[in-house]
Amino acid sequence: MTKPFRIIIVGGGIAGLSAAIALRKAGREITVYEQSADNREIGATISLQPNASKIVEQIWGMHDVLLQKGGMVDEGFQIYNTNGELQLSIPLKTTAKYGAERMVYHRVDLHNALKERATSDAYPGRPVVINVSARVIGCNCDSGIVYLEDGRSAKADLLVGADGIKSMLRKSVLGKEVKALRTGHSAYRIMVPTAELEKEQEFTNVINPRESKTTMVIGYDRRLIMGPAREGTVYSVVALVPDESMNESAEGSSWTTVGSHDKMLESFDVFPEWAKKPLRLAPEAGLWQLRDIDPLTTWYRGRTILIGDACHAMLPTQGQGASQAVEDAEALGAFFADIEESSFEVSEVEKRNKALFECRFERATTIQAYSRQVAKPATEPGEVRVKMNPAEFMDYNCSYSGALDWCARQASSKQVTVA
Ligand SMILES: Cc1cc2nc3c(=O)[nH]c(=O)nc-3n(C[C@H](O)[C@H](O)[C@H](O)COP(=O)(O)OP(=O)(O)OC[C@H]3O[C@@H](n4cnc5c(N)ncnc54)[C@H](O)[C@@H]3O)c2cc1C
Repeated sequence: MTKPFRIIIVGGGIAGLSAAIALRKAGREITVYEQSADNREIGATISLQPNASKIVEQIWGMHDVLLQKGGMVDEGFQIYNTNGELQLSIPLKTTAKYGAERMVYHRVDLHNALKERATSDAYPGRPVVINVSARVIGCNCDSGIVYLEDGRSAKADLLVGADGIKSMLRKSVLGKEVKALRTGHSAYRIMVPTAELEKEQEFTNVINPRESKTTMVIGYDRRLIMGPAREGTVYSVVALVPDESMNESAEGSSWTTVGSHDKMLESFDVFPEWAKKPLRLAPEAGLWQLRDIDPLTTWYRGRTILIGDACHAMLPTQGQGASQAVEDAEALGAFFADIEESSFEVSEVEKRNKALFECRFERATTIQAYSRQVAKPATEPGEVRVKMNPAEFMDYNCSYSGALDWCARQASSKQVTVA
């Protein structure tokens, strides 16, 4: 009897669960090791761009499940300046152009839906096993062995490092430490009940908080990005501000803190009063220092491949971080599609990891760079005219139909250039 192809995924975030779904097959044994005890996301929203929605909804068949969980189609961007004047309105019905919609989810709902899709026996392939409270502290990239904090170890034919921006596996793959970089930005994340916000007429005179649109209010180096989630029952705000020193430990491991309400409001002093209403209503405001990483020299070594924030953490200014993780996962599924048993030599696994890296690297790196570009001050100092267009890079970002199609397009465009 042939032995199953064993896959270990380190990290049960969006990248890890997506990889579990994409790789799930009858002849495979997939185990996710997640360090946290509850494997849950935070209370904030997340948008999946059409390039990722297409994969999640159409390839992984999650369209109906995600709508049942309160996912909303984003119907447009509306950009206001600090005088409260509408500067730009961009309709966003994107299916005709990109083959899917930009979707907004409560993070917990998206995470739960991915977890169910990976572990439930209602779908084809062997259900994935998730081990929680299982922190990986070391690995051997060539042999595919992981070492856990509790003394256990486990061996895989393919080892996927989906362990986020502070990735432990990244160090093993690269043979050196690559630290996450400060970007100069921090973000408050807030969520308020829509029913409360609807009592604020100053706000509702301008914005209908149940209408599925993303509103941005922008002034120089700070901006409010807001919109509804969970079928309009909650309203979410990400408030981007210039970075400040956080209460970091000596190792710099804590990049989140409870934000000061007064300080947050002070940061948006010159913003219109209506736009500050959700901030005033927020019971608390978490503050995240936003970091990213520079492009890496490689994402793979032997049986090990990095995906998601572990290899291309980026600023959230285009909402592409998780979407790129979904693309990585789909690519894993495509490059390992024919393997079902564990007889594959390390050289064969590494060959596929290399092909995946060569297919994904340029695209993910370009989107990382665009995300930095979109984060630059969006008005001149002291001026109100907004010069940033959030749809600027959408054609590049969203015209995507899976890794193999992307590779073929890249190869043919290079042939044309050479000819
Ligand atoms: C303010 C903000 C807004 C954002 N908005 C969007 C958006 O709208 N759209 C979008 O696409 N992206 C957005 N992003 C980015 C997105 O959240 C990330 O890109 C995405 O969540 C990365 O997923 P990941 O699974 O790679 O990493 P993580 O979510 O960091 O998951 C890593 C997992 O690995 C686990 N882990 C880590 N180390 C170990 C270990 N040693 N052993 C075992 N487990 C381990 C962690 O506990 C965690 O569960 C936003 C980010 C921020 C900060």
